[in-house]
Amino acid sequence: MVRILESIHGNPSSPHRIAHDAAEVLEDARMLVGSALGVEPTSIHFTAGATEAANQVLRGAVRLPGSCRRILTSPTEHASVLATLEDLERSEGVQVVRLPVDSRGVLDLRVLEDALSEPADLVCCMLANNETGVVQDVGAVVEVAHRRGARVFCDVVQALGKMPVDLAAMDVDFANISAHKIHGPKGIGALYVKSGCALPALHTGGHQEEGRRAGTEAVHDIAGLAQALRDLPRQLGNCEGVRAVRKEFEEGLFRILPEVEFASGRGTGLCNTVHARFPGIPNSVLLGWLDHQGIAVSAGSACNTSSDRPSHVLTAMGRKETAARESLRFSLDPALSPRLLRRQARIVLGKIDDYLRGKVPDVQLLTPATLSPLLQDPRVLVVDARHSVDRKWIPPLSRAVQISWPFGSHLEELPKDRFVVFVCQVGFDAPILAWKLRKSRKGPVGFLAGGMMAWKCSPNNRSNPN
Ligand code: PLP
Repeated sequence: MVRILESIHGNPSSPHRIAHDAAEVLEDARMLVGSALGVEPTSIHFTAGATEAANQVLRGAVRLPGSCRRILTSPTEHASVLATLEDLERSEGVQVVRLPVDSRGVLDLRVLEDALSEPADLVCCMLANNETGVVQDVGAVVEVAHRRGARVFCDVVQALGKMPVDLAAMDVDFANISAHKIHGPKGIGALYVKSGCALPALHTGGHQEEGRRAGTEAVHDIAGLAQALRDLPRQLGNCEGVRAVRKEFEEGLFRILPEVEFASGRGTGLCNTVHARFPGIPNSVLLGWLDHQGIAVSAGSACNTSSDRPSHVLTAMGRKETAARESLRFSLDPALSPRLLRRQARIVLGKIDDYLRGKVPDVQLLTPATLSPLLQDPRVLVVDARHSVDRKWIPPLSRAVQISWPFGSHLEELPKDRFVVFVCQVGFDAPILAWKLRKSRKGPVGFLAGGMMAWKCSPNNRSNPN
């Protein structure tokens, strides 16, 4: 990317030699995307990420002449699909049918077939789920949909690099990918449109990308996507080894906590995704502990962690809200060698074991009920570690001291002779800060589990947050 920024200055649509160099970078990248997805390069159009491509497919499908303005989807799709469909439903009266999934997160083909007894423009079915790693039988979905005259949009963002993806074999009509999911740059992706399928552009302007995506292409970002794709065969070659490490990791979790539950069953789905429920342990607390140890795991998708809503994927799979709040996703990076991954997986298991055995710095976990009586105590200092937009939504507790981002940089300023209690918006930042502060001082430190969202929702505070 740096080389392109430094030396390729042309606009790929211009008619001179400098421009030709830029156009060559694009065509090279298009060939790589096409070959990674098993389709012709001419069917690939660069976009500013997978969300934009999904918007183009969904919004375009209902604008085509003869559209029946009916779209079928599963409730476990990514927000780029679900939120766009909600918008189309609300603002344009499009009929959106959300088909149920079973407890493993898999679409029922008979229900799909029934729903298609009425005509539909499109069926949205992602190949692999980004939270649970569950893989759908997209070939079978396409077979049913095509038989009933509907086209299929398949989000292959999460699957790419973690399993072979062959769009031609699956016979999907539209698909999207995102570079940042395969270690490429953020803000760049691609849209696949099967030859012969009509799809209007999302916005108007120039004729770039065969008229499917107006605007000068981000040549350096596209070169970054291409570079990431060059590593894909090696990553795919690692997949079996990654799956073996995953199995050991799951067995390790089961050994240290026999009650652990796996969302999609042990060993199934994407080779690298472990989605585990730790009964009785709020995911925000375990996530905070692991983050404090330098281990990045997630609870729900990255697009959701600023909200307190439990994962829509788990809820759709029939999990209770408590179960959804006790679940974490561990992603094993298939770009690493299985040998290195195995070493890292053992470290993560060790840290979880430390947590379960109480071998963690002594930090108090407070609930809204246990924090309430402390609020008037002058020996207690409540530290509000939130962004200003969050404070507008839920006002700070009375007498709380507000610290700004980056929160960790204010720890030194906090008085040493008071019981410091951190509160954040949804419970992810406060435990990290509490453990960090506890490392450098002897006095008591605590945090509010579930953050101000839990405070707001607790029975005594529903009407009055203070
Ligand atoms: N689809 C899935 C399955 C994702 O996980 C993501 C995001 O990471 C997207 C779509 C959106 O991709 P982008 O961030 O490129 O818009």
